[in-house]
This record gives sequence, structure tokens and C-alpha cells, in this order.
Amino acid sequence: MGAAQIIATVLAAAVTVVAVVLAVRAVVQMTAVIRLGRPDPTRFSGKGARTTTMLTETLGHTRMLKWSTIGAAHWFVMVSFIILFLLVLEAYFEVVDPEGGLPIVGHWAVYGLVTEWIGVLGLAGILYLIYRRQREKPGRAQRSRFTGSTMWQGYFVEAVIVGVLICGFLIRGFKVANDTFEFPGWATPVSHGVGALLPAAADGPTWVALVKLFISMGWLITIGLNVTMGVAWHRFLAFPNIFFKRDPGKPAGSGLGPLKPMMSEGKQLDFEEADPETDQFGVAQVEQFTWKGLLDFSTCTECGRCQSQCPAWNTAKPLSPKLLVLSLRDNAYAKAPYLLAGGGKDLTGEEKATSEQLAGVDVLALAEAERPLIGTAEQQGVIDPDVLWSCTTCGACVEQCPVDIEHVDHIVDMRRYQVLIESSFPSEAGVMLRNLENKGNPWGAPQNTREDWTKGLDFEVPRVGEKDFEYLFWVGCAGAFEDRAKKTTRAVATLLHSAGVDYAILGEGETCSGDPARRIGNEFVFQMLAQQNVETLREANVKKIVATCPHCFNTLGNEYEQLGLKVEVVHHTQLLAHLVAEGRLTPVQPVDGGVTYHDPCYLGRHNRVFEAPREVLGAGTAGLTEMPRNSERSFCCGAGGARMWMEERIGKRINIERTEEALATGAKTIAVGCPFCSTMIGDGVTAKGEQDNVEVVDVATVLLRSMKQEV
Ligand code: SF4
Ligand code: SF4
Repeated sequence: MGAAQIIATVLAAAVTVVAVVLAVRAVVQMTAVIRLGRPDPTRFSGKGARTTTMLTETLGHTRMLKWSTIGAAHWFVMVSFIILFLLVLEAYFEVVDPEGGLPIVGHWAVYGLVTEWIGVLGLAGILYLIYRRQREKPGRAQRSRFTGSTMWQGYFVEAVIVGVLICGFLIRGFKVANDTFEFPGWATPVSHGVGALLPAAADGPTWVALVKLFISMGWLITIGLNVTMGVAWHRFLAFPNIFFKRDPGKPAGSGLGPLKPMMSEGKQLDFEEADPETDQFGVAQVEQFTWKGLLDFSTCTECGRCQSQCPAWNTAKPLSPKLLVLSLRDNAYAKAPYLLAGGGKDLTGEEKATSEQLAGVDVLALAEAERPLIGTAEQQGVIDPDVLWSCTTCGACVEQCPVDIEHVDHIVDMRRYQVLIESSFPSEAGVMLRNLENKGNPWGAPQNTREDWTKGLDFEVPRVGEKDFEYLFWVGCAGAFEDRAKKTTRAVATLLHSAGVDYAILGEGETCSGDPARRIGNEFVFQMLAQQNVETLREANVKKIVATCPHCFNTLGNEYEQLGLKVEVVHHTQLLAHLVAEGRLTPVQPVDGGVTYHDPCYLGRHNRVFEAPREVLGAGTAGLTEMPRNSERSFCCGAGGARMWMEERIGKRINIERTEEALATGAKTIAVGCPFCSTMIGDGVTAKGEQDNVEVVDVATVLLRSMKQEV
């Protein structure tokens, strides 16, 4: 070992010791913060499925590849990161001996070949990602997905990867120039090419290996000092975060469909016995999220995919799912020293720690602990109320997130506390909640008018109890009381009658499914309505339901299971597609003028029903013109998450944004599959002055018209 090797070895050892100590300290800190969260025993079931999903999503990059070029580039960067680990290990041997390399595998030609090409593709991948970050950076792109991301961290990580990969080729190049490189030219042509440009230098590999170790350990030191640096830590945290996602059986959007029931200390709350002084009602402090919530916040890569798809963010509202997650993450980590010292408020708001316990806690952590979780800028709130109430629960963020963060659950948990304990929510929604409690529907319409839509039909609509039925036709409150939706109800009933389907309605026995109450955070009213409906459905011995409203479809099919009722629920477009395929409904005259289709969030993204409505439209029209944002990437109409019942005072109206996209297709018919979408887009068309040229109708109405029937 020469002098160069001795000096380099000492320096490499010193920087490595510092880096490893800081990294271990960061892992301990991070684990301690995540463990502050509340228990969630539901995350440990089905370990086999969890492992398979985790491996498929990470190694296969199934979520990332939805953005194909970026996904492919990121895949090579990820693989090169794993290979980089071997190359960094190899650098220690090269520091000690410029002719050295990894023992055993380091001498195999296949190792030389694989590392060479992964290095080349990794370099190409990272250069492409750098280009994309530059092209889409704030200031250059309109409403950039990187707005609010910590840009220096992204640049730093990119520079490290470029630096380490270049060092790898330089080391190999020097070995080639020194004639000590053992891999053949056919396996490592780039290294041989670099070697041809470099002079022979006996200590060259040692010094470059030292630089490579400095860069790598510099990265480890930096992330060790920045535990909230998600752009780097996600390389490790993505694995457990995906493993512990809510429903590992779902290929995408594990946090979509049903909402989680309200939990307190890992147990589902029973509202008959629940007591807000001893049971946790929603989330009032960041540490009241479960450990999985805190793991979610720690894992965010700041990629901004969620932000780029969020209807609130895209219409200039203060909500960005990314910024919401980052605010919660920063609050948790800044508050952690206080919490770890025993601090925190009990459920009555009293401080749990003694003054002795808090004596050594940093003043900044104490100040952070005083911030309300929900509060305005003047109140120094972590999340502004306008952020919390701007969410439509459309699920675009959950769908897009490559590391399976469950934004909607977190948002609704915070709403639950605001509504149930603080009674703090947009005042106009109070009317809807009162109507639900008193009249069983959000409009406050008299229950005895629920069957009015049947008047004037030239056939009898059967009620439960009058005859045997295969399907319960769940009409829904909009379908029963809202004029536009009543037309859809009548069209569906007519089609079911024409096809000879055995169906029946509950009529006055039906009440709201509870969706708007649950999405606004009033779990109490949801439970009240849902219990009542569950009893009614049990008494009627219902086995199958067809629903026209995707919110009812989702609630009945996915959420009543939490109350013990498992029943098969189909959306009317699914049943109609089946009837058309069976030849029981036959469109004869396609609707002309062009048709476009708007995917309702709770039918499409939340329940992945994309094809059935398109099949029905395909049968009943001359063809469909898709909007740019369709299917998984459909853009919300603005009514979900109980937003239907709130004023939209900030930014551009979401329904106008969506209507403009629909109008731009030139279609004369905008087909929908949801009564709320119908209202929102119908209002949008009117606001744009296009009501005489363009019609908004349900898929069922399009089918009925194509069968030459009047509605
Ligand atoms: S659910 Fe929709 S509106 Fe809410 S934060 Fe996510 S993308 Fe935005
Ligand atoms: S998509 Fe997921 S990882 Fe990316 S910024 Fe949003 S929450 Fe973070």
C-alpha cells in the first residue's frame, strides 16, 4: 500500500464513520417519530399479498410507469442506485488497492457487463429526470407540480447520482489506461472508451474512488442531517409504505373506495358507547394520526404528481395534496422533541407532561406544539381551513401517488374532528346535515315525495314486498328529488322494464346512503343513516342492488360492509352494458352530434368502472370523443366530498374547468354517470352559454334515445 492509498484509506474510513453514525441516528429519530402515531392493527394482515404488491410496485414500477417516460427513466435510476451500492462497496477496495475490486463477483465478466450498462442507462435516466425537472420547474411551467417542493434537495440527489456514476466510469477508465482492467471490451465498451482518453496513472483509481466515496458519504451525511428529506429517504421508506398500504389487493389507489371507519386506539369506534373524553374522534393533533399516517408523511418524495392532478390546485385553490402532506410531515418532525419528552394533549386538551419533563425541550419544538392543526395563517395553523374544505375527495392524488400515500383518509380524519368536536365547517353545509338528520335526504324534501318520479310512466314500478325481485333499484336522493336526476331514474326504470329485469324499489323506505355526511366528516350522521338502511335492506332480503348514483354505489357496496352488510352492488351502467351484450336491450339508431363522456370519480377512480359506461355509449352512439383527462386521470366535476353542499368562493370553479374541457371536444352530448356530475356540468354548460347547443345527459338516457324512446 503506497502513501496515496494510506491517506485515501484514512480519509475514506473517517468520512464513512461520520456518515454511518449520522444515518443510524436519523433512522432512530425517524422510527421514534413514526412510533408516536396511534396503533393500526389492520396493516398486518395478508403478509403474502403485501409482499407481492410491494415487490411488483417497486421492482416493476407499476405505479410510476403510468407516466411512461419518466417511469422508465426512474426505473433505471432505481436499478442503478442498487448497483451503485455495489460500486460504492467496490470503491473501498479500490481506495486500498488501485487494482482491486469486489471479491468474487467483482471478477466476473457478467458483473462488468451488467454494471456497465446499468450505469449507462442510469446516467441517461437521471439526465432525463434532470431535464424534466428543469422543464417543469416553478416559474417555467404553469402551476408546476414542483411548486412547494424543496428544489435544492432534488438537485442535490440528482447531482450525487450523476457524480457517482461518472466516478465509476473514471475509475474503470484509469484501470483500462493502467492496463489493470480485467473486463473485455465487448462487455464494457464505455469504460474502454473512457480509458482510451485517460493517461496511465497508478493512483488514479484510488483518488477517484475516494472522490466517489466522498460524494456517496456526503449524500449519507446530508440525509442523516435532514430526516425530512423525502426525495432521498423514499428510496428506503417506499418499501414499508407500500407494504403497509390499506388494501394490498388493489393494484392502484389502495386508499380509494371505502373510507376507513373511525378508529380510536386501533379499534373501530362504536357510536352507541363512544365518549369524546375517552375516545379519539378524528384527528386534532398530528400525533393522533396512526403510525401509518406518519410513515406516509415521511415517505413523500415531493414529486408533485398528486398536485398536478388535483382539481383544487388546478383551479387556484390553496389545497395541494403534496403541500398538505409536507405540512403534516414538517409539523410532526418539528414537534417530535416535545412529544418524545412525554408532551402532548389528552383528549380533553390538558397537557400530559410535567414541567420537569419539558424543561429540556427546545423552544422551537414547544412553539410548534402550540400551533393548532387546523387554523388560519394568523392562528399559525398547520393546515388552513380553506385547504381542508377545498378537497372533493376525488382521489386523483391517491391514484397518482407512486408510494401509495392515502391523502383522502387523512383529510377526512381531520374533518371528522372539526365537525364532531369543534362544529367547525363551512356554514352552508349545516343545512345539508340538518336535512339529513331530520328528513333523511340532503335537500330536506318530504319523504312522501320519494316516489313522485314514477308518476306518468306507462308501466308500474314495483315496490319491495309487492313481488319477488332480483335487483333492488336504489334510486338515491338525487334520483328521487332532483329534476335532472329524476329523468335518469325514469330512463333506467324504463330500460329495466323493457329488458324484463326483475327489480323493485324501496320507495319511501329509502333514506340517504350517508355519503355526504361521511365525506364532510360527520360520522355520527353517517352511522345513523347507514344503520337504518342496513336494517331495511336486511328486512327486504336484498341480495343485489343497482344504483344510479356512484356515491350510493360506493357507500352501499364498499362501506356498509363495515356495518356487517355484504351485498352485491352494480352501477346502472354496468347492468345496462350487460343487458346490451345479452341482446335484451338493442340500440337501433345511434345518437348523433358526437358524444364525450365524463368519468365520475366515485365510479371510475374509486371503483375502477371505466369500461361499462363506454360500452353502453359505444352501442348507442356513432362513437365517443374522449377528453384529454379521462378514465384514471379524469378531472373531478367539483361536487364530491360534500362539496356539492358548499360554496366555491376561491379560484376558478372546478365545474367550469371541466365543462370547458368537455366543450372543447366539440361533442353535442356530454354523457355522465352521476347525478352530481350532471348538475355540475349542466350548470357549467349554462354558465358558458352553450345550453342550446350542448346537452348533458346520463348514459342511460343516451341508450334509451338510441332505442327510439322518448324521455
Ligand atoms: S382528493 Fe382530489 S381534491 Fe382532494 S386533495 Fe386529492 S386530488 Fe385534491
Ligand atoms: S404523489 Fe405522493 S410522493 Fe408525490 S408529492 Fe404527492 S404525496 Fe408526495
